[in-house]
Amino acid sequence: MKQPLARTTTRADLRAIIGDWRQAGLRIGFVPTMGALHEGHLSLVGAALETCDRVVASIFVNPTQFAPGEDLDVYPRMLDEDCDKLQAAGCHLAYCPTEEEMYPEGSLTNIRVETLSDLLDGGPRPHFFYGVATIVARLFVHVRPDVAVFGQKDYQQLQIIKRMTRDLGFEIAIIGAPTIRDADGLAQSSRNLYLTPEDRRGASGLFASLHRARARIEAGTPFEIALAEARDYLTQCGFSKVDYVTATHPETLQTLPDGQAAKGTEGRLLGAGWMGKTRLIDNIAFRRP
Ligand code: AMP
Repeated sequence: MKQPLARTTTRADLRAIIGDWRQAGLRIGFVPTMGALHEGHLSLVGAALETCDRVVASIFVNPTQFAPGEDLDVYPRMLDEDCDKLQAAGCHLAYCPTEEEMYPEGSLTNIRVETLSDLLDGGPRPHFFYGVATIVARLFVHVRPDVAVFGQKDYQQLQIIKRMTRDLGFEIAIIGAPTIRDADGLAQSSRNLYLTPEDRRGASGLFASLHRARARIEAGTPFEIALAEARDYLTQCGFSKVDYVTATHPETLQTLPDGQAAKGTEGRLLGAGWMGKTRLIDNIAFRRP
């Protein structure tokens, strides 16, 4: 039988539990989340369990990554259900800190990963990745894991966390776990809860558009043609606005130049667009044979 899930809201309790594990020589994995958990989040717990003896998941809706007018107040919160799911997935400890615990009164310190944070999703929302890096750094200091697992679903976030971990010398191995999708290809996301049934049908077009673009690029179609086709396809699927569909270097996220991908080029295709009131993102790897 799986062990019962321990649950704490305080850093002191967290450190006491983790301290005991550490003394026993156990390897600790960490999965940060904002809750409203789905199979995607739980797969990260599974990935952590593959290499760790104990897994901590955090649930914290981080205010510093929302701008005024974004969905902070209505972001889905369902702590008891989430903890049941974590327990079923084999997680050992849920850390559900208060805002005061993460941002003590008068906090002035923020983390800013330059350049990588200002591209793509960071362009129109510059606060966003500063907030993500800041909360993840603070959580790393609280939990001090050996391993932390993030989803490739949020690919830019994953690259930013890898870079921050390297730059600040956190001795934490960062694992990027594959994206979990619904049967029609839509990447699972807490924000999919906002989609109307009609929006939900069109939403799978995002993965389909990237999938098609990959096939075209790998067959030698110039980037600008394959990417323009992908944008058109999104519009046909009912996306009201396409923020970007782009081909980038897999780590620096710099846009690859127009023209045919040279043989052997590896990169990442990333897309973002609005389906109704919901902004969706997705990405896939490509490699020109
Ligand atoms: P969030 O709660 O949205 O902040 O996500 C917490 C973690 O779950 C992040 O590392 C995400 O990349 C990851 N994640 C979210 N959706 C998925 C998915 N469909 N497949 C895999 N990982 C995911």
